[in-house]
Amino acid sequence: MTTQTTSAPEHSDFLRDIVADDLCEGRVDGVVTRFPPEPNGYLHIGHAKSICLNFGIATEFGGRCHLRFDDTNPTKEEQEYIDSIEADVRWLGFDWGEHLHFASDYFEQLFEWAVDLIKSGKAYVDDLSAEETREHRGTLTEPGRDSPWRERSIDENLDLFERMRVGEFPDGARVLRAKIDMASSNINLRDPVMYRILHREHPRTGDAWCVYPNYDFAHGQSDAIEGITHSICTLEFQDHRPLYDWFLENLPVPSRPRQYEFARLNITWTVLSKRVLLRLVGEGHVHGWDDPRMPTLSGLRRRGFPAEGIRDFAAMVGVARADSTVEVEMLEHAVRNVLNRDAPRRFAILDPLKVVIENYPEGRIEEMDAPNNPEDPRAGTRKVPFTRELWIERDDFMEDPPKKFFRLAPGREVRLRSAYFVTCTDVVKDPDGNIVELRCTYDPATRGGDSPDGRRPKATLHWLSSAHTLPAEVRLYGHLFVSAFPGADGRDMFDDIDPASEAVLRECLVEPSLADVPVGETVQFERLGYFCPDSDSKPGALVFNRTLTLKDTWAKLQARGRLDTP
Ligand code: ATP
Ligand code: MG
Repeated sequence: MTTQTTSAPEHSDFLRDIVADDLCEGRVDGVVTRFPPEPNGYLHIGHAKSICLNFGIATEFGGRCHLRFDDTNPTKEEQEYIDSIEADVRWLGFDWGEHLHFASDYFEQLFEWAVDLIKSGKAYVDDLSAEETREHRGTLTEPGRDSPWRERSIDENLDLFERMRVGEFPDGARVLRAKIDMASSNINLRDPVMYRILHREHPRTGDAWCVYPNYDFAHGQSDAIEGITHSICTLEFQDHRPLYDWFLENLPVPSRPRQYEFARLNITWTVLSKRVLLRLVGEGHVHGWDDPRMPTLSGLRRRGFPAEGIRDFAAMVGVARADSTVEVEMLEHAVRNVLNRDAPRRFAILDPLKVVIENYPEGRIEEMDAPNNPEDPRAGTRKVPFTRELWIERDDFMEDPPKKFFRLAPGREVRLRSAYFVTCTDVVKDPDGNIVELRCTYDPATRGGDSPDGRRPKATLHWLSSAHTLPAEVRLYGHLFVSAFPGADGRDMFDDIDPASEAVLRECLVEPSLADVPVGETVQFERLGYFCPDSDSKPGALVFNRTLTLKDTWAKLQARGRLDTP
């Protein structure tokens, strides 16, 4: 058992209380949980909540957590998804040890158990068409009607089920159903389908099978085979729980797991549904599953969100039984906390404006010591070259500043971080009146950014020596949707996609040391935000993604608490 603990303090919740109670009362000997993704898409941050919960509980109670692929539907499942899910769970910081499992590993056992149910008169082969099955199912207010095939003899059912298995019938010709109660108030108990015919290659079992078990006939039994004690899932499975229990009670399973449900995670400004994410990718609304605007773990990773920030967020969100929507600012807050603590500081200029320090000797290069992280003195300092010709951010100068603008302006002195105080003495313009250069003077007595006479400029700017930069492309991201609740009020959520959610800045300038930042590491461009190299980045053609701006709006929103779903 090698799962890793999360860094945020764990709060107790109703699930942890249940587990603690079960251990205390001796109802279970140890705790075994599982994370059961269907490999039909990439994991999103909602799944991260479930992963942190299942692996977290196992770790806290000295148990173990399995990774089990719920691969019962070969029409939608692919090896690419299996690989990405394993990589994402590992990246998030969890390890299933030797407990990598697949529902498909149990196909033979599940088939035998289906035969057991037929033999005890609790399952039958049904020939109704999909359409007829729907008509017989009834509604929430009306009971269903028995299929005319419900009273087939056990021998006939055994024969037909075997012939289904060997491939005698086409897709959809017959199904195997549990014989429970067509009048049940719970529609899940109205003779649910256990097996359907699908002549389809399976990513793992190949063409060994042409009948596949449904989720409901696979999940609980897989839990029982693996000795899962607490089978934790989201609320939409609550109505399936009686069926989960029915199969376990009617089959000779080796253990007796229990299912518990919690509320799924929803986040403002995005959508956590694989079906929608699949469409976003498939229809080209984004560049792929790992597009930095996607709420997938691969997207968030590419965007520069550290795994620890996501784990902290999951801990902050907690576990409840009521559906709610969490503000995306809370996720960003958790991520900023980690980045503020860890991210190395660097200088980069998104929109460069040239500055010439007139009283600074030509050809002189001074190595200034700049702190790598003011939050962490152990991170040390780095050398940043200072010369007569510099770049500053165009936004940091105004020729005719309004009252509240404290940065550089004609006649005004500002601090260049870790370097000198400079004063703007002149503005150079092109024939069209655009500012192309500033002339400044510096005060040699302020080396390192402090004045011996206690002068304190109101602004501190970042800068780069013009002879010491690398060019870079910087990609800025906003929310993928224009609404905090995409598709609310009857809108089509695909009409809510924001075409301006991605913007590219070319001809940015960065410190030369930024060429060495590996993909997967996020740095702070001082005063601008957090940025990380994109996987498209190459030597000589650096590309950075903006992870987040520096401004944290969560504190303000926190007072209001979480939003309710509209
Ligand atoms: P989606 O609804 O996005 O298609 P899913 O529930 O079909 O997701 P699965 O692969 O079946 O995806 O999910 C694996 C596990 O993750 C399940 O136990 C499911 O309950 C949980 N899970 C899925 N979405 C969320 C979410 N938004 N919040 C918390 N847990 C989730
Ligand atoms: Mg599902």
